[in-house]
Amino acid sequence: MMSEDGIAADRPVGAGSRRSTRGVRVVWGERVVAIGGDAPVVVQSMTNTDTADVIATVVQVRELAQAGSELVRITVNTPQAAEAVPEIRERLDAIGVDVPLVGDFHYNGHKLLTRYPDCARALSKYRINPGNIGAGSRREDNFAQMIEVAREHSRPVRIGVNWGSLDQQLLARLMDENARRARPLDAREVMREALVTSALESAAAAESLGLGPDAIVLSTKVSAVQDLIAVYRRLSERADYPLHLGLTEAGMGSKGIVASTAALSVLLQEGIGDTIRISLTPEPGGDRTREVIVGQEILQSMGLRAFTPQVVACPGCGRTSSTFFQTLADRIQRFLREQMPVWRARYPGVESMQVAVMGCVVNGPGESRHADIGISLPGSGEAPVAPVFVDGERSVTLKGAQIAEEFQAIVESYVARRYGTALEQAPTPQASAAGSD
Ligand code: SF4
Repeated sequence: MMSEDGIAADRPVGAGSRRSTRGVRVVWGERVVAIGGDAPVVVQSMTNTDTADVIATVVQVRELAQAGSELVRITVNTPQAAEAVPEIRERLDAIGVDVPLVGDFHYNGHKLLTRYPDCARALSKYRINPGNIGAGSRREDNFAQMIEVAREHSRPVRIGVNWGSLDQQLLARLMDENARRARPLDAREVMREALVTSALESAAAAESLGLGPDAIVLSTKVSAVQDLIAVYRRLSERADYPLHLGLTEAGMGSKGIVASTAALSVLLQEGIGDTIRISLTPEPGGDRTREVIVGQEILQSMGLRAFTPQVVACPGCGRTSSTFFQTLADRIQRFLREQMPVWRARYPGVESMQVAVMGCVVNGPGESRHADIGISLPGSGEAPVAPVFVDGERSVTLKGAQIAEEFQAIVESYVARRYGTALEQAPTPQASAAGSD
């Protein structure tokens, strides 16, 4: 059962309680995205357009926001990109996309944020990589400049450590300390400790420069699952800043999805993690919104949040005489996802609905009865009819060439009836038109 904001009212069996963190607010206009505290785990994403290309970036931010990304990060790497940010923000506002933008800075963030104050204002949060802001006293000065801008504009920051750009001075210091131990740790352990130390020391430095602890989010990303789990466990034991989870460079296709899911599921199950980003490498020409959908599916599969009605479908086997049920399951899942931008506001609670599409009589009726609405298609050797189950009861039986269209229409009517206002709760014409038992 989900509450109005999509938080699971009953935690899944075995889930630990959520670790207590400070709440950080990321704001744009009326839109407030809370990270940490009691807020649900936030799904965020990042564009891969050239930020200086205003139109391409606006289009992709809109796509990511419409897919459900609650924050969108854009890289701000050049003066041209910094100049483009206010226009990107204005254009998004003009088309009604109020998702807060996060600026991703490396090497020159201190210069860009101070020289382009309109850019600093248009962004709702800044990502600072402590390993990429210079060395020695320049490092401290550059960091201080970025924190000063965050304070001036009342913006939170994410101190985002990444093992690929770990602060080398810090790593050398910890290596030296380790060498003096009676029983030195192995290099991997030192690297893990360096990631955590970098994040915590940077957060302490930000606080000493006047940034409130309620304006700091931490991340320590690595690309190996066991390292990620170990590092975040350690981080969560030693600080109560909200944590941004993500496996960096997760990879392409199923490898990236599986590795991210494996790592994040363990941590989320332990109550660790306040916002997630799935760093998938898109296939050439692939859809960037995939990373948003995967993030949502991880949280929804774990019963932590609900975003989109889920389709339960069997894998098929020798009893299925055609791929029709696979096509229908895919068609229904796409249909449900496409409706969500409208349904989310119009039909509160619909995101928790379950639809079953099953391939034969063995598990079809049983699984369909457990779903809110389900259909059991005929397997090989079965009569060519497809019983539909609504709220656990057998409803109508579909047959003929229009089963897919009729079932989709029944789902649509069910949603309006169950989740809509009284005016929309009209009878189901498709149900009465279809053959009944
Ligand atoms: S429900 Fe039927 S078709 Fe689907 S996997 Fe089970 S036995 Fe096979």
